[in-house]
Amino acid sequence: THFGYKTVSTTEKEKHVADVFHSVAAKYDMMNDLMSMGIHRLWKRFAIEMSGVRKGHTVLDIAGGTGDLTMKFADIVGSDGQVVLADINDSMLKVGRDRLLDKGYGSNIEYVQANAEELPFPDNYFDCVSIAFGLRNVTDKDKALGSMCRVLKPGGRLLVLEFSKPSNDLLAKAYDVYSFTALPLMGRLVAGDSGSYEYLAESIRMHPDQETLKGMLENAGFVRAKYHNMTGGIVALHSGVKP
Ligand code: SAM
Repeated sequence: THFGYKTVSTTEKEKHVADVFHSVAAKYDMMNDLMSMGIHRLWKRFAIEMSGVRKGHTVLDIAGGTGDLTMKFADIVGSDGQVVLADINDSMLKVGRDRLLDKGYGSNIEYVQANAEELPFPDNYFDCVSIAFGLRNVTDKDKALGSMCRVLKPGGRLLVLEFSKPSNDLLAKAYDVYSFTALPLMGRLVAGDSGSYEYLAESIRMHPDQETLKGMLENAGFVRAKYHNMTGGIVALHSGVKP
């Protein structure tokens, strides 16, 4: 199946998020490595290991951005499978698409501009849906989780990789200082844009904690909802299964 492009409607928050990612798109990969000191690669690798994705599967990588997860999924599903990289932002999609084409990825990947809240895919279509560092940018998270559940096959798995709440107070304080001082500073020095990285810190602070997000997965209709903390809870991987 091939999915076409569709016009995406926008709210105020979406407009702000759009500005942020139009602004950071070109330097996104470098800033990820710099700000996480490379650790985001380990978080993503763990998500892939937990995905249960196999050869021939169909996978949706929502908020796929520059395609780190998409690439790994494409390697696993092979030529009989399909991976859809969906993102609301055309600048991020373009950077992602160019990057993956440069690396020689091709026929088993599709690029679709889409809002996580209203996924333009059929019901019961995907074996796995992932959203990495994307859910916190979504305005109506419950709606988005419901939409993800709809497009999954029964028995299919959702993976949400996202910043979360550090489990230890000292780590939480250190992390707060890091995110509200070092991140905007790096943003200013390296990307010439501190505002976008202030938004990053703010959006991490506002995002629901581990237990709250687990409850949201259950409310959206997922069963066997659970999470694994990584790096002391700075990041958590949530998963749930469509019944
Ligand atoms: N998944 C990639 C990764 O882990 O490197 C990219 C993550 S990036 C921090 C967040 C992405 O979410 C951006 O590319 C942004 O355009 C996208 N995004 C924000 N709001 C969205 C929405 N409502 N629906 C789909 N994508 C969205």
